[in-house]
Amino acid sequence: MARTSSKGKCRFCGAEFSKAAMSKHLATCPARLSGAATASTTRQKAPPTPTRLFHLVVEGRGAPMYWMHLEIPAEATLSNLDAFLRDQWLECCGHLSAFNIAGESYASTVDREWGTPEKSMRGVKLGKVLSVGQQFEHEYDFGTTTELKLKVVAEREGRAVKGKSVQVLAQNEPPQIPCENCGKLATQVCSECIFEGEGWVCDDCAEEHECGEDMLLPVVNSPRVGMCGYTG
Ligand SMILES: [Zn+2]
Ligand SMILES: [Zn+2]
Ligand SMILES: [Zn+2]
Ligand SMILES: [Zn+2]
Repeated sequence: MARTSSKGKCRFCGAEFSKAAMSKHLATCPARLSGAATASTTRQKAPPTPTRLFHLVVEGRGAPMYWMHLEIPAEATLSNLDAFLRDQWLECCGHLSAFNIAGESYASTVDREWGTPEKSMRGVKLGKVLSVGQQFEHEYDFGTTTELKLKVVAEREGRAVKGKSVQVLAQNEPPQIPCENCGKLATQVCSECIFEGEGWVCDDCAEEHECGEDMLLPVVNSPRVGMCGYTG
């Protein structure tokens, strides 16, 4: 399948940019900045105190066409970020996950019976382990692993979105992947053939797929598409 880098839309103004150009855009997006200004000049009974907010870019490792720009308070924990990534992109059957940051591993579940004692991601605040420019990784499911690359591209003082610790600033548009039989848009993918970069089919061609329809999963806008039992 094509490894073209996909474009995405800014959540604030709707303009389209590539993943790299989006960082620059978000820093100066008039719609985003005016929204922030309005929020800070509106008189509230108990205005939330400004807090450190990280701007993160996350993408699929080996699948850079899937990406998101996120904003998350430095007060949030690695578990909060893990929960968001699972919810948005990853969760199929409650597999284990871990972050790798500067040579340290922070696991979703720590089993001290086994091997090296890993650190837990629980209670670890992002502000303690991340800073601008830092790159790190996230792995979900240590069998059929989905690996994500993350980077802290900026930080600012601001107010966190109420009741939501992670805000999606921008996300890629779904990649247009053709059916390998007829060239129409693929809607299903074979959970076996995907490891060879194949098995993308449309609904019409699905029943003819040699592995059988039981192996097919829906095409979803996530780097975990076609893996294990992931259906989006
Ligand atoms: Zn914008
Ligand atoms: Zn699974
Ligand atoms: Zn087809
Ligand atoms: Zn197949």
